[in-house]
Amino acid sequence: MNLIQHYIDGKVVSGDSKRKGKVFNPATGNQDSEVLLGTKSDLDKAVDHAKKAFLSWSTKPPIQRARVMFKYKELIEKNSDELTKLIVSEHGKVYEDAKGSLTRGLEIVEFACGIPQMLKGEFTENVGTDIDSWSIRQPLGVCAGITPFNFPAMVPMWMFPMAIACGNTFILKPSEKDPSCSIRLAELFTEAGLPEGVLNVVNGDKEVVDAILTNKDIQAVSFVGSTPIAKYIYETAAKNEKRVQALGGAKNHCVIMPDCDLDQAINGLMGAAYGSAGERCMAQSVAVAVGNVGDKLVNKLAKKVEALKVGPGMDKNSEMGPLVTKEHLEKVKGYVDLGVKEGANLVVDGRNIKLQGYENGFYIGGCLFDNVKKDMRIYKEEIFGPVLSVVRAKDFDEATKLINEHEFGNGTSIYTRDGDVGRTFASKIKVGMVGINIPIPVPVAFHSFGGWKRSLFGDQHMHGPEGVRFYTKLKTITSRWPSGVRSNPEFVMPTMK
Ligand code: NAD
Repeated sequence: MNLIQHYIDGKVVSGDSKRKGKVFNPATGNQDSEVLLGTKSDLDKAVDHAKKAFLSWSTKPPIQRARVMFKYKELIEKNSDELTKLIVSEHGKVYEDAKGSLTRGLEIVEFACGIPQMLKGEFTENVGTDIDSWSIRQPLGVCAGITPFNFPAMVPMWMFPMAIACGNTFILKPSEKDPSCSIRLAELFTEAGLPEGVLNVVNGDKEVVDAILTNKDIQAVSFVGSTPIAKYIYETAAKNEKRVQALGGAKNHCVIMPDCDLDQAINGLMGAAYGSAGERCMAQSVAVAVGNVGDKLVNKLAKKVEALKVGPGMDKNSEMGPLVTKEHLEKVKGYVDLGVKEGANLVVDGRNIKLQGYENGFYIGGCLFDNVKKDMRIYKEEIFGPVLSVVRAKDFDEATKLINEHEFGNGTSIYTRDGDVGRTFASKIKVGMVGINIPIPVPVAFHSFGGWKRSLFGDQHMHGPEGVRFYTKLKTITSRWPSGVRSNPEFVMPTMK
């Protein structure tokens, strides 16, 4: 059986780990690998290496760090097929979708290639007579990232390329469900010329996470995962005096206005609700049908959901792959059972799907609920599977109220032809990422990614300009060069004259 180890100081190592986790191929249901579950001592050793590496990496001119990024970009492109297959084999999503997610990660590396421009700082001549002032951004030290299963390449790449380009060193703790891609990404970075110890991958579970949160030499923690764990990370890291950004779960609403291009909206919704089997934090899991559009929407959607091609991620005909693990499949099925019990109308039931030759894979077909009410648990909680709930709202105000009152505020979209409605929606909605006739409004690399409310704990969003701010600290220098006249001591608060 394949053994997935750690990557520390430029080498694959086994460390002190005794425990192992199981890694499955979700398409077949077979356990193809096991992953080492690291210990506190594995983590501490990785941090020691990262701390040492910081001394020289942080002093490299940004242009030299950028050159390593350029080389890394080339290597990711060259190895994209292998990386994509690693994603498919452990996560289960279909090949083209996996490749798209890798490209979105690659775009962060491309953004990081321009780091000298981002680190230029600000300068003011003569803030006072003969006094100049400038602000610079310096790296923090050793940073850490803890990532979820649903984007095994993209989410780690939201973090480490930005942190490293800014001059930090990094410890990545990927999801134990699909860790192979992270190890390969780290190996490629070394091949690109990244010095040993700058990027380290320590595999594991809560034991390594807790070791990260309490390690005195880790300056900042980036987390992406479910809301209860995000809250725990935020509180514990802050208590241990670390900078922290912790992105949590979601329940994204797509508002369908009666004047919209319904076919465009339905195509958008299909991809946003069922793409990656709904295992995306930006998946649209609630469609809010406004006014009289509901029946038409549900009838048209139902036909498309029934026709969804479910199959292994490597099959070119598959539109939707399996879920990540058997446990997750049971959880999602449990939510569908619950929705029926709560009285929602299950229009399409994907629970009993069977695939010939893949009987043990973790598959569920697309599920569609109509007449979901706001007090139902299937409306309030994140399901993270291919289950779309249609909620009926009498008008725009009722639709936006639903969204604004929801616990989560990650992403949302509206389909309409009315510019005023679109603009009002964008302005008033309490959500971090908004689409207007765009189904999945994931910001590109040179903007930043993040939700509101219980979808993000912390102050800064990820990657882009916010990433640079998160991974650097600001220093402002004020200077005067004596011009021969010595000044007398001043005992009052200095103001610039
Ligand atoms: P998860 O919270 O179970 O795990 C995320 C990470 O936390 C993993 O590395 C895991 O090992 C670690 N972890 C799990 N339990 C822990 C514990 N008790 N103590 C310490 N660490 C622990 O999330 P997941 O199931 O891997 O991913 C799915 C979730 O991630 C969904 O809720 C999804 O919405 C969310 N997500 C959010 C975003 C976003 O940008 N907001 C992006 C992707 C995924």
